[in-house]
Amino acid sequence: MPDYGKYSFWLETAGDQLRPRPALFQSAEVDVAILGGGYTGLWTAYYLLRENPGLRVAVVEKEIVGFGASGRNGGWCSSKFPVTPRMLEQRFGRDAARSLMLAMNASVDEIARFCQDEQIDVSFHKGGILALARGAYQLPLIRKAYAGYERLGLSSQYHLMSAEEARQRVNVTEVHGALYASENASVHPGRLVRGLARAIERHGAVIYERTEVTDFAGGAAPRLLTPGGELRAKKALVLAGEAYLTRLSKLHRALLPVYSLIALTEPLTERQWSQIGWQNRESLASSNYTVDYLTRTPDGRILFGSRGAPYRFGSKITDDQDRHAETHARIRRTVVEWFPMLEGIKFTHTWGGPVGMPRDWMPAVAFDPATRIGFARGYTGQGVSTTNLAGRVLAGLIAGRRSGLETLPLAQRQSPDWEREPLRWIVVRYMQDAFLRIDTAAKTGQPSPKDSFIAEFLGKH
Ligand SMILES: Cc1cc2nc3c(=O)[nH]c(=O)nc-3n(C[C@H](O)[C@H](O)[C@H](O)COP(=O)(O)OP(=O)(O)OC[C@H]3O[C@@H](n4cnc5c(N)ncnc54)[C@H](O)[C@@H]3O)c2cc1C
Repeated sequence: MPDYGKYSFWLETAGDQLRPRPALFQSAEVDVAILGGGYTGLWTAYYLLRENPGLRVAVVEKEIVGFGASGRNGGWCSSKFPVTPRMLEQRFGRDAARSLMLAMNASVDEIARFCQDEQIDVSFHKGGILALARGAYQLPLIRKAYAGYERLGLSSQYHLMSAEEARQRVNVTEVHGALYASENASVHPGRLVRGLARAIERHGAVIYERTEVTDFAGGAAPRLLTPGGELRAKKALVLAGEAYLTRLSKLHRALLPVYSLIALTEPLTERQWSQIGWQNRESLASSNYTVDYLTRTPDGRILFGSRGAPYRFGSKITDDQDRHAETHARIRRTVVEWFPMLEGIKFTHTWGGPVGMPRDWMPAVAFDPATRIGFARGYTGQGVSTTNLAGRVLAGLIAGRRSGLETLPLAQRQSPDWEREPLRWIVVRYMQDAFLRIDTAAKTGQPSPKDSFIAEFLGKH
């Protein structure tokens, strides 16, 4: 059996023993059967049980609760949605975009409410996000982002900062300005997912671990198939396996698994923190295509995350992709570029995991009463609070209850499938390489590569 603590610092420090719960060893029947012990599956179970305490709900998890992205992420519990406000407005109109953004804000507060009610200590800290313009070329990007929020009437939560103001918050090199967003928190992701699992058990759910779902069927007799037996569901099946869903042949092209990787420093000294500032513990980012996200952990370390690990042919997900020497070396170098006073700092942990990217970048939550199959997926790298919203939407759809959330643009929709191989591999590898080249050129003041417009076009379509 794997040493699950090795998969991330968050699982290692989750505060429990990570001993697997019993597997499903014979066929059983419940009302709702859920594939996946990450936030999506667990939030859905939580809201179903809160609404209907007598419901028989079971979760089936291939490894242990929190094994996937939910136990490995950057700890941003943010109101950011995977699609920008500008794109949301273009696709769904102003009112729908605004409602979705407000629902995301509410999700951050709902997670705080849940942790308080269930007495789960996740080090919840509402410090906001500071999106830095690192390099003058990033200034138009943060201004454009601000304009998008302004058009939705949300500007009171966002504040454009001068370079000086931003540097007073955190002493990072090359800062030309920043966009501050107040409605964001950071959490200990491992404690959240493990605590959420214990909470749903207290509310009556059963969790089977070390049990792989090999197939599923909807219709007259909805069921999850596992090596130990079938889990039949009288009311609904929920498919909540995010990137890992692509391992099921029926869902192989539903998402693209893209690896996000993290490096974590040792705890910084008081002296180092006094040079850096960052007293308010905002979540930090810049506006790179290759994405960088930073968290100041509750125990005083810097977590630095980034994309960039190459896509593997056939959407392969394997443990050996959790660590990619070249990308992790780039991340470690970038930490010192951002914070030169940390030259020589030790990195105690590196890890990573797959995020699930839909073909149109838009998360989808749906339940079909005819097949009785429900799903919520496609958060890319923004799932900590989006899964909470998705769980509430899905629980409402399954219960047939109107809450208003079912009219949000992520509900009752499905993204198109990704291309078949080898086209998928060719396009994704090309885009990954192009984005890295665009970032490098911008950073070094070189002209943008000639093919930038192709990568940018593909990135939007
Ligand atoms: C490195 C990294 C950093 C990230 N940083 C952030 C961040 O800072 N903020 C943010 O908002 N989001 C972040 N994300 C994304 C976020 O973590 C995810 O969107 C979210 O956790 C998805 O939750 P989930 O429950 O849908 O999927 P997961 O947490 O991946 O859970 C799916 C579960 O289903 C199980 N499963 C899958 N298939 C089967 C099967 N056939 N049988 C049984 N079980 C199965 C898996 O083992 C897994 O435990 C990050 C992700 C990664 C990988």
